[in-house]
Amino acid sequence: ELQFASAVEVLMSYYPHVKKAVGASEKIFEYLDREPQLPPEGSLAPKVLQGNLQMKNITFAYPKRPDTPVLKGFSLKLKPGEVTALVGPSGAGKSTCVSLLERFYQPQEGEILLDGQPLQSYQNQYLHDKIAVVSQEPVLFARSVRENIKYGREDATDEEMFRAAELANAHKFISDLSKGYDTDAGEKGSQVSGGQKQRIAIARALIRKPQILVLDDATSSLDTESEHLVHEALRKSSNGCAVLLIAHKMSTVEKANRIVFLKDGEVLEEGTHEELLAKGGSYAQLVHKQNTAFLRNTEGGSDSGGI
Ligand code: ATP
Repeated sequence: ELQFASAVEVLMSYYPHVKKAVGASEKIFEYLDREPQLPPEGSLAPKVLQGNLQMKNITFAYPKRPDTPVLKGFSLKLKPGEVTALVGPSGAGKSTCVSLLERFYQPQEGEILLDGQPLQSYQNQYLHDKIAVVSQEPVLFARSVRENIKYGREDATDEEMFRAAELANAHKFISDLSKGYDTDAGEKGSQVSGGQKQRIAIARALIRKPQILVLDDATSSLDTESEHLVHEALRKSSNGCAVLLIAHKMSTVEKANRIVFLKDGEVLEEGTHEELLAKGGSYAQLVHKQNTAFLRNTEGGSDSGGI
């Protein structure tokens, strides 16, 4: 019996590795799954891009579940210089939108237009340069903060790096680090917190001067104050890119120029924070629910603003 117990123990000790390996292979299958669907890349790479992006009547189901559409007649418009927030309950299809913008998948119906041309008519590298996505959990390399930011564009000058960091509300804390921009960002137990990592990742995206910036829940580890500062900076940013903010905390989206409320793959409501509150629909209910949850949690001592 003892032998059996220790054998189980040995097996269990491998469990995290096995789990990791299985996770990785699932990712690979997911990748193989979507690859054959994609049409070949196009040839467009115009010098000047306005940055008007339109998702038109998109219907999309994942290859694994072709009978269960995740987006149903979904439409969204992004305009240069505007922050558009996409909110909605878990599973509504928010991250799926990002995957479509990144061209990981091809919608079955509808189209995505960039300056009036279908996304697939552009060169992949061009799209990669023009549409920057800061993911939920950005990865920093075990290199200096400088290298991490300049990874976005290796020929960038220090001035451009400072500017990008300022817009991402990161310049001040980076300057306060022991070695400033030369501080190692990826080191285990390094001085960089989760929220600061995200700000470095935003700076890395902004240094590319993208026309479209997608923040997939990117500010979830930021405290409310830095969140507001980042959004203010994005709104004021002179490069006037179009920002799509995928948000899980309602406080994050109040300042957006437009809020799109998504549920079960369909747009239920659309407008500014004030307009949607006045309407008293699903958005207003969710804001109310979160405020109540927030009050209850702060009384209980923990903070949770998630949907
Ligand atoms: P959350 O706020 O929880 O991140 P979300 O609004 O971003 O949710 P999505 O991640 O886009 O929602 O998921 C929408 C639906 O698509 C869910 O029902 C989800 O289970 C399903 N889904 C997501 N990814 C895949 C996939 N690779 N294959 C099949 N179904 C998927």
